[in-house]
Parts: sequence; C-alpha cells; structure tokens
Amino acid sequence: MLDEFCLDISNRLNTGILFLDCDYNIIMWNRFLEVHANKNDNDVIGKSVFSIFPELPRKWFERKLSSVIQLKTQSFCGWEQRHHLFELFHSRPITTDSHFMAQNCTFLPVEISGELEGICILIEDVTDVCHYQNQLNKALEELALSNRIDGLTQTFNRKHWEECLAKEFSRARRHQHDLALVMLDLDHFKLLNDTFGHQGGDLVLVETAKAVTKLLRMGDLFGRYGGEEFAVILPNTNLAGAEEVAERIRQSIAKNTIRYQDRTISVTASIGVATIDSIDTRYEDLISNADIALYEAKAKGRNRVCLAKETLLA
Ligand code: GH3
Ligand code: MG
Ligand code: MG
Repeated sequence: MLDEFCLDISNRLNTGILFLDCDYNIIMWNRFLEVHANKNDNDVIGKSVFSIFPELPRKWFERKLSSVIQLKTQSFCGWEQRHHLFELFHSRPITTDSHFMAQNCTFLPVEISGELEGICILIEDVTDVCHYQNQLNKALEELALSNRIDGLTQTFNRKHWEECLAKEFSRARRHQHDLALVMLDLDHFKLLNDTFGHQGGDLVLVETAKAVTKLLRMGDLFGRYGGEEFAVILPNTNLAGAEEVAERIRQSIAKNTIRYQDRTISVTASIGVATIDSIDTRYEDLISNADIALYEAKAKGRNRVCLAKETLLA
C-alpha cells in the first residue's frame, strides 16, 4: 500500500528520479524521465545507464558515482558546472539556447539495512533558471559595454579610455616598454557645424571614427576624448612609430569625403604625439604633452602632426 503510494508520488513529481545499481544498470525511473527522455519503460529497465544515455561523460560520471558509493555521501552537479548530463527534452514555452533541459543533479547513495543497494539520481529541471540567468548575464555585459562606449562614435568614452591609459601607463613603466599617445582635434569643426548643421557634424564624427579605427592594430585603444577630439593609445610604440601612425591618420581623415544630403563634406585634423620618457611620472603628463603638441599643430596652420618635445614637462 505504502509502496504503491510512494510510486504514485514519484510519478507525479516534476523531478527526475533514476535508480541505478552499483554496476550502473537502471533499476527504476519515474514518469518524468520517461516523458522527457521520450523512451519506453520496457526498453530501459535493466539496461546500462550508458546505453540508454550514451551522451553521458562516462569517465567523469563513473568517477562521480564511485566516490558516492565508496564514501556513502551524496554529491551534486549543478547546471553552471555542466549544463546537463542527460539529454532530456524540455517543454518550457521559452526560447532557450539548448534543445536539452538544464539540470541540477544530486547523487544519493541508497542504503537498505546498512547495505549499499545503488545510487539514486535526482534530476531537477532548471531550464528557466539557466535561461533567465543567461539573459541577465547578457544584459549586464551590454550594460558594462555601454558604460565604456561613446554612443555616437562607438569608440571608448573618455572615462573608460582614461582608465585604459592609466593601466597601459603603469604596465609600460613596470616592464619598461614604449607607450605612445596620439591626440587629434578636428579643424574648424564649429564652422563645419555652422555650414552643414549639427547632424552633418555628427556624421563627420562617426565617419572619422570609422576611418581611424580601420588604421589601428588590435591592441591600440581608441577613444573620444571630447566633442571633436579623439585619442589613441599605442602600446609598445616609440615616437617614430607613433608619428607614422599619426601621419597615416591625418592623411586618411583629409582624404575621407563624406556624403551628406547630396553634399560632400571634407575635414582635416591637427594631431599631437607624445611618448613616455624618463621625465613623465604620471599618465596625465602624457596627455598634457600630447595636448601641447596638438596646439602647436593648430598654431602652425592645422592639418599636421607635431611631436611633443621630451623636455616639455621637465
Ligand atoms: P579648431 O580648428 O581650433 O579646433 O576649431 P574648432 O571650431 O574645431 O574648435 P572649437 O573647440 O571652437 O569647436 C569645437 C566644436 O565642436 C564646437 C562644438 O559645438 C562642436 N561639437 C562638440 N561636440 C559635438 C558633437 O557631438 N556633435 C557635433 N555636431 N558637434 C560637436
Ligand atoms: Mg576641440
Ligand atoms: Mg577643433
């Protein structure tokens, strides 16, 4: 009577129950597993768990079970460790990344009158937990990204760019590597806005950022420093190398023609270049040096590259 009642309850549970003997043959499973594995009771009972679920990571599974048997203590495997052990179909009305049910599995030693009879595995469907956790992680990643990116130009924003510079600066100092900074300011941008409107100006910022991005290497860090000012951190680059990059950037901006409402917009940039040297003690000094060089480029007639003098901040 009680046995029947227990069997009935186990068949109504929304959790999988799988009994294995000590040779990993299936002694019993409940209705939940029958439905979600889409296999018939008769084809399963008495068979090796590895023949019914060939997808099981056999070595790992055997190690796990033998420790449960030897230590006679329960063990656990959560979906974050392994998304699923058993290929069971889930029936959640939500789109998930996997065909198969995400599972939390608990392994229990089954003892009757002090004798170990086998192992009971409880398989809990955590597909929705897994799904919502993944959605949350994605949203957090996007949020973290939007905190770092300038909405208009898709380059790093000033805050994140400066954090990168601080890190690169101390790394370069520690390992005695080169580090260069290129700062650029678009020429007569106020006039460009007045001529083409703010939207025309915005488009120029977007297209200029794209043109510069194309020229950079993987490790270079490109950011929008202010309104129409951009800055590039060039790790492991000396002054001559940085001058070359800056000159390429200048030429690329100058020859980039931007179509806007049946008109063509051209723009140029003035560029200042600085590198760390024995005098600079803070990353802010590097910015100041590049800035001074940038203003020299403006003063000398714009659309040119100027290099910071080593002794500027001595
Ligand atoms: P200079 O050659 O000396 O750099 O002259 P400039 O006109 O570029 O310099 P100024 O600093 O006087 O003007 C910068 C202009 O950039 C003023 C500001 O309205 C414009 N600006 C700043 N941010 C944005 C933006 O996001 N979009 C647009 N369209 N314009 C912007
Ligand atoms: Mg400016
Ligand atoms: Mg300007």
